[in-house]
This record gives sequence, structure tokens and C-alpha cells, in this order.
Amino acid sequence: MKGYHAFHDPAIEGVAFSSEDIADLVTRLGAEITDDYRGRDLALVTVLRGGFIFLADLSRAIDLPLTLDFMAISAYGGGGVAVRITKDLDDPIVGRDVLVVEDIIDTGLTLNYLLGVLRQRKPASLAVCTLFDKDVRRLADLPIEYVGARIPDRFVVGYGMDLGGRYRNLPFLARLRDEVMG
Ligand code: 5GP
Repeated sequence: MKGYHAFHDPAIEGVAFSSEDIADLVTRLGAEITDDYRGRDLALVTVLRGGFIFLADLSRAIDLPLTLDFMAISAYGGGGVAVRITKDLDDPIVGRDVLVVEDIIDTGLTLNYLLGVLRQRKPASLAVCTLFDKDVRRLADLPIEYVGARIPDRFVVGYGMDLGGRYRNLPFLARLRDEVMG
């Protein structure tokens, strides 16, 4: 059987960020977070499934004691405004310095809902780190302290991000052809 070569996938138009580009962003973010959270009680919280690859790399670029926890949510209804928690955090966050780690923020509506839920649990602080930010489409006003890179309003896949469940394992961030998106 022939191997799968993502670069030859006809759905993929090109590489938006190579794995080396992404590694540079992750190293910079990890260093900033290490400086800012020294002496604090850092709890990284990530939203499944998209954030898991970024979390794995970012957590290893942070040179501090920390914990990792996961949530899963599903958006339903038109516009993704209605959100339901399908998997909650395993551990309490009261009094802790919570940093939400996201792969990509688009309208911000999902994250806005999530931050509302987390805030009610009285963390000592609550901040957001996203690898990619499409801020042109932002509908909610969010406290995003750490941004890897701002990207244009084009659908991307890879490095944890999917289309219909696929492409999460690409080690780079790819643009899809417009025909694929319909
Ligand atoms: P928001 O609520 O900010 O509009 O949407 C956030 C979620 O939509 C992200 O966590 C991600 O799951 C998904 N998303 C937004 N833009 C993209 C994109 O370009 N590619 C992929 N694969 N998912 C995206």
C-alpha cells in the first residue's frame, strides 16, 4: 500500500505555517508564559479535541511546575452560539492561575461561553493563550493575553485542527482549496 503524503492531498492548497514556524511560535509563547507565571499556581486547561497537539508542545516549552486538564464542548444550533460541556475538568480550579490553551479563535463565541463557566469557579486568575487568532471575525470581547500569530479569515487544518475529523495529524498548518469548503 502506498503511503499517505499530505503534500499530495488534492484538498490541500498549501502550507500556511510549517512545523518549524509553529515550533518558533510555541517556543516564544512558552518563554513568555514562563516569565509571567513564575511563583504562581499554573493550571493549563485545553479544549478537546483541537487543542491537544498545541498543549502537548506548549506545556513542554513552559519551564515551570504546572497541571494539565481537559474539557470537551459541543456547539449546536445555528451559529454555534449554544454550547454544551460534554466533558468537564477532572480537578477543581478554585484559587488557581488558569490559562486556557486554544488552537484557534475565530468568532470567540465558544471561548466566551467557556470563560463564563470557568470564572464562576473562582480561579485566582483566568487568561487565554491561542496559537492562531482570526481577529477579523471576533464577535465577543475576550481577554486573550498570548497569541502565536494572527491569520486571515481562511479555513485551515492541521496541528490539531480538523475538517470532518481528519487532518489533525498534519505537522504543519495547511490551507484548504476553496472547492473543498464548498
Ligand atoms: P469560534 O467560537 O471562535 O468562532 O470558533 C472556535 C472553534 O472553531 C475553534 O476552537 C475550532 O474548533 C473551530 N475553528 C475556527 N476556525 C477554524 C479553522 O480555520 N479551521 C478549523 N479546523 N477549525 C476552526
